[in-house]
Amino acid sequence: MDIAKGDILTMKKTHPCGSNKMLVLRSGMDFKLRCLGCGHEYMIPRLKAEKNIKAVDMSGRENMH
Ligand SMILES: [Zn+2]
Repeated sequence: MDIAKGDILTMKKTHPCGSNKMLVLRSGMDFKLRCLGCGHEYMIPRLKAEKNIKAVDMSGRENMH
């Protein structure tokens, strides 16, 4: 799965705050994600995150450079 910094992930499981949108802050073996609902940031292993991804919005990539 092609995921890079600046992408917005729509997750299958919602965050406890009710949002299912996550901004990718860092990509690699682990992702660093920021919840767009509550702003919480966390690290998650790539394999674990990929199982929970429903859709990837890549339109934000340009803005991060
Ligand atoms: Zn949240």
